[in-house]
Parts: sequence; C-alpha cells; structure tokens
Amino acid sequence: MPKTKYVFVTGGVTSSLGKGIISASLANLLQARGLKTTIQKFDPYINVDPGTLNPYEHGECFVTDDGAETDLDLGHYERFLNVRTSQANNVTTGRIYQSVIEKERRGEFLGKTVQVIPHITNEIKERMQLLGSTGEYDMVITEIGGTVGDIESLPYIEAVRQLRWELGRENCIVIHLTLVPYLSAAAELKTKPTQHSVKTLMESGINADVLVCRTEHELSKDIRNKIALFCNVKPEAVIQSIDADTIYDVPLMMLDEGLDRVVLDLLTLPDNLEPDLTNWKEFLSRLKNPKQRIRIGLVGKYVELQDSYKSILEAFIHAGAANEVKVEIVSIHSEHLTPENCTEKLEGLHGLLVAPGFGSRGIEGKISAIKYVRENNIPFFGICLGMQMAVIEFARNVIGIKDANSTEMVEDTSNPVISLMDEQKEVENKGGTMRLGTWDCTLSPGSRAHEIYQKDAISERHRHRYELNNLYLEQLTSNGLKATGINPETGLAEIVEIESHPWFLGVQYHPEYKSTVLAPHPLFSAFVQACSQYAKTKN
Ligand code: GLN
Repeated sequence: MPKTKYVFVTGGVTSSLGKGIISASLANLLQARGLKTTIQKFDPYINVDPGTLNPYEHGECFVTDDGAETDLDLGHYERFLNVRTSQANNVTTGRIYQSVIEKERRGEFLGKTVQVIPHITNEIKERMQLLGSTGEYDMVITEIGGTVGDIESLPYIEAVRQLRWELGRENCIVIHLTLVPYLSAAAELKTKPTQHSVKTLMESGINADVLVCRTEHELSKDIRNKIALFCNVKPEAVIQSIDADTIYDVPLMMLDEGLDRVVLDLLTLPDNLEPDLTNWKEFLSRLKNPKQRIRIGLVGKYVELQDSYKSILEAFIHAGAANEVKVEIVSIHSEHLTPENCTEKLEGLHGLLVAPGFGSRGIEGKISAIKYVRENNIPFFGICLGMQMAVIEFARNVIGIKDANSTEMVEDTSNPVISLMDEQKEVENKGGTMRLGTWDCTLSPGSRAHEIYQKDAISERHRHRYELNNLYLEQLTSNGLKATGINPETGLAEIVEIESHPWFLGVQYHPEYKSTVLAPHPLFSAFVQACSQYAKTKN
C-alpha cells in the first residue's frame, strides 16, 4: 500500500472559485492534524512556466527558493502552510510536452509513435507522484488548473482517472469545486450547474468524492441532500464554501464544514486528533481587532488587477496583524503620477511602497512619488524596480546627476546608475533567464536592515536582470544613500537605505515572497510599524 495519499482538486462551472484557497485550507487542516502535507499545481497552458506571462494575463508570478517562476497559487500554499515549495510544485502543459519531446529526440520511446495517451499522460502521472515518491509527505494535494470540460484539461483528468485506478480510491480521491448560483428573480439557489459539471467529470471516468460548492448563501439541508443524491456523493461530502471576509477564514470554515474529516475518512485515515489551530486563530484575532488604521500607497503600473501584487498585499495583511494595525492599501497608477500632482495624489498616506515591474512605462511617476516621500520624511519601501527607481531619484535629485537612468529604460544612457549584470549581457531567451531564486546577502552592522533582521546574513528571493551599478556606489554612499546589504559573492548591492530619513529602504530582492501567516516578513512588519508611528504623529 502506498504511504502517500493523494487528493486531487478540480474545478467546474467557472474559474475563480478559489481552488487554490480551498486546496491550501485543506492542506492547512491536515498539517494541523500532524500530517506532512504539500500542495502542487498542474496548469494546462502551454507556456513552460508563467515567467513570460504579463501580470494582466495570470496575475503575479511567484518565485520559489530554487528559482522557479510559478503560478501565484504557490504563494498561497506557502503562506497557508509556512513550508517552502519548489520547481516540482508547479507543472504546466508546456513543461510536460517539452520533456516528452526531449525524450523522443533522445530516442527513449524506442521507435514507438508518441501520443497523448500514454506518453503525455504517463509524464503527467510521473510528475503528479514526484513529491509523493520522496517519502517526505503523508499527503500530496494536487490542484488542476482550468475547468473540467476544457479541451486542454483532458490529459490531466485522464491521468487522474488512471492514477485512481492504479492506486485505489482509498489512496486517491477527487474533490470537485463548483458554483451554486443564487437567482434573485427566483429567490433560489440552483444546483443544475453543479449537476452538469459533475456529469462532465463522469464522462471522463471520474466520480467526484467530495463537492465543494461555492455559494453566496447558506446551503440548506435539502439542497445538500439534493446535490448528494444527484451527484453520487454522501451528504456530508457536500461542502459549502460561502464568501469569506478574508481568505484566512477559509480553513476554519472548512473545519466547520468537516472537509478534513470527510477526506480522512475517504482515505481510510484516522481522524481522532483535533487539528491544532491555536496560532492560526491568534493571527485571525489580531487581524480582526486592529487598534489603529493606516493608509499605505502602492505605486505600480498593474494596479488595476489586484492579483498582480498578490504577495505584497498578503505580506501587508500578515504585517498588519503582527502590528495590530489595519493596513488600507491605496493603489496608485504610476502613469497617473507627475511631479505636479504628487502632493494631491499622495496626501494623507502614512507610507509608500513602490512595486516591482518591468519596462519604462510609468517610471517617471514612480520617481516623482519617491522624491515626494523622501523630501517629506514619509516612510518609503522600494522593492526591486522600486529600489532601482529610488537609486535613480537619489542620483538625479540629491547628487545632481540629472540624466541618471537604468539601461533597461534608456539603453545608451550616459549615467547608467542601474545597469545590466555582466552575465545577463549574453542572454537572448526571455524565459527562466533572470537572476532567480535565493541569493545570500550580508548586512552591515548598525544599519536599519541589520536592526530589523537581527542577523548578519540573510537569503532572499530574486527576479530581475538589472543591478545597482557599483561604479556609482561611492558617490551614492557619500551623499547619504548607503548599500547596507551586499551579496558576498558578487559584491552587488541588495539593500539601500537613507540613514537620515525616518524609514527609507529599498531592496533588490522580493521579501514579499517569503512572508507567511505564521512568519510575517520582518521588513514588512518594520515598515508597517514605521508607517503606524508616522500616522500617530499626524493625528
Ligand atoms: N525590471 C527590473 C529588472 O529586471 C526590475 C525587476 C523587478 O522589479 N522584478 O531588474
């Protein structure tokens, strides 16, 4: 009997039902019962990874320690579980095909015709069991992206069908997420879309074991019984997923609904231990009982789509709870900012974060905003491109290098304070070629960064091509912008700060990727604390 148990999560009726949050919440409950749990996501699109996708297409690209550019749901998995994911936790159709085609070129199929079944499905099954086969996990939860019935999802659904047959239903179950819409004209909840979706899954040979029904209204006993009867599941396996105030409520809602117990029962595992959610509940209580409200501006060029900055927004929620402060994020489109309207647009903010990004659109707006907060002693936090813009602003307006720029924006700029790393100069392909994943950084004693981290050395995740140009370091430092975090291998600046400013810090890496509910990121916590103090001086 295999040691590792598998739970597959599929979606029906429509996208955006919250498969990622349900998967993460279930994982959270199983972990809280002492089971070693991991989550992985299989995405049916043809990009090899989401690294080349515009945030408008698919939201933020999440980066793991090992430098994988992944789906943003992996961020939820890490935030809910406080365990790291890796390249193996996110697989796309592009990666599956790439691997099968490489095997074909090496002649590994011994003259056979290479086909979707069995070659693509075998590759999918192998990867679905990769983390499980390490023996490290009791439970592997796999979220299948997309919606059943989509042409591109079919090989994944077929792979799940085969796995269930091979491993046995007591080792491998399917949770299907559907929508139970409310028709206000009829004042009724409707189960038909769920019935159809379950039927579509059955056409592919899979009978869902558990149905998680997204709804805006409570599901009555009658509705639950009706869904159970028509969809071949036990009534207790019809789980209501009602809209929540915060995604962090969902594990407790799933606990109330008994999702973890139904899953354990189907997988023939004991459910005698109660999940220990003490720390989680403590976090929720701090989150819901703030003692102060503050407003922090988030300047970026993708602010229309909340998912573009998912990890940053979540990191603020963690840091807000840690400080017992409600952080209201005010999104500011960088293209709408000019030196003239900064006072009006940034008025009333208690802090400003300039977001990561690529390309020249909106950068002058970011620079204007940074000048405003630097001069007005408002707490400032710059991440990646935000840090690079802070360096440019300082070079231009404090040192007087009027044409300071990044070679990303003006390739032949005469003062490239931000420039391409040497090893990037040869790079031609866009996908997977940035400086990615975890890199070490040594902190200067006595710096704000050192005081915040309380450590001499840290390692953080990166995703960029450009760097602070060390030819300008001396000039920046002597004028007051110090590099207080340095990569010990390359000597490149990882952190810059202005000592004479109440809180002005820029980081070349992405701290937001490492913030979790149970371990809020120290930089976000310290920034929120600084903004909260600033807010108190304004009241
Ligand atoms: N575009 C910048 C670079 O490539 C910053 C990237 C980012 O903000 N993630 O260096």
